[in-house]
Amino acid sequence: MKECLVAVDVGGTNIASGLVDFQGNVLARGKKPTCAGTGVQNVLGRIMDAVAAEIEKSQALGCTPVGVGLGIPGLQDSLKGLSYSAANLDPAWKQIKVTAQVEQRFGLPAEMDNDVRCHALGEKLYGAGRGVENLILITLGTGIGAGIFLNGKMFYGAGGCGGEVGHVTIMEDGPLCSCGNHGCVEALCGAPGISRRAREEIAAGVQSKILALAGGDLNAVTPKLIYEAALAGDPLAEKVMAQTGNYLGIAMAGVVNIINPELLIIGGGVAGAGEMLIGKVRETIKKRAMAQQAALVKVVSAELGEDAGLIGAAMLLPVRGRIDSQRMEQNLR
Ligand SMILES: [Zn+2]
Repeated sequence: MKECLVAVDVGGTNIASGLVDFQGNVLARGKKPTCAGTGVQNVLGRIMDAVAAEIEKSQALGCTPVGVGLGIPGLQDSLKGLSYSAANLDPAWKQIKVTAQVEQRFGLPAEMDNDVRCHALGEKLYGAGRGVENLILITLGTGIGAGIFLNGKMFYGAGGCGGEVGHVTIMEDGPLCSCGNHGCVEALCGAPGISRRAREEIAAGVQSKILALAGGDLNAVTPKLIYEAALAGDPLAEKVMAQTGNYLGIAMAGVVNIINPELLIIGGGVAGAGEMLIGKVRETIKKRAMAQQAALVKVVSAELGEDAGLIGAAMLLPVRGRIDSQRMEQNLR
């Protein structure tokens, strides 16, 4: 029987799961609510259930699961399988040995990484980053995360927490960020930050189609509605979108200067705004990064969507040598 890998991509809202083959194809997909904040044991139990559900599907698909890859949010030492904290899963989520528990329960080798690094690995192997050695992927959603590849290898930093480009300060006295600092790019360009900037202007009396699209409810303003209003030519929405691209570009220009990547891939829900946003990021990087680095870097959209997280989580096993990596390399040729 053909071999496959179980993949789980844990988010604050949903746990996505699937079966992935060694060609990077997603053979099955599942999704269930994370039920974040309902206790560590409950959330862990739901992750285990997701693994079990995928293993159950495998027989009907004619494949044998040979390992489990997990994308887990929060701070972690992923090479040790140790999740330090994941506040968006549960406030009490501290020092959890995720992979050891999965291995014990299912008798399969397990590997984990930060959810965004899994996205980056998926895009590097099978998506927009194929064949590129130095690249950065950023995901734009509620938060802003990143995965960085240097000389073909994933970058972790000394404590496993490197690459937090969402927490680059771009405004000295800017809004409070989830990390406790003020003026991080995440506080301005994470989904809540984007919505807040539009809301503040509308509350101050600026006329905008955004309010009508939100049914007259300021609290219902989302980046998606702002994008729709911008497409319809609404000046405030256009301004907020341009500002978002500009702030992101300022943060990324600094990173581009330091890393000198060939490629910057932009993914995540907010990246659904496509060229309206990515074009502005590109323009700002060209304007603000040093000429050599700015000329080299291409700024593109992610290609694999939500599958990137599943594919990357699965591929942690061959990439780290837990499963004969030749199987994957042969398939990549
Ligand atoms: Zn921050």
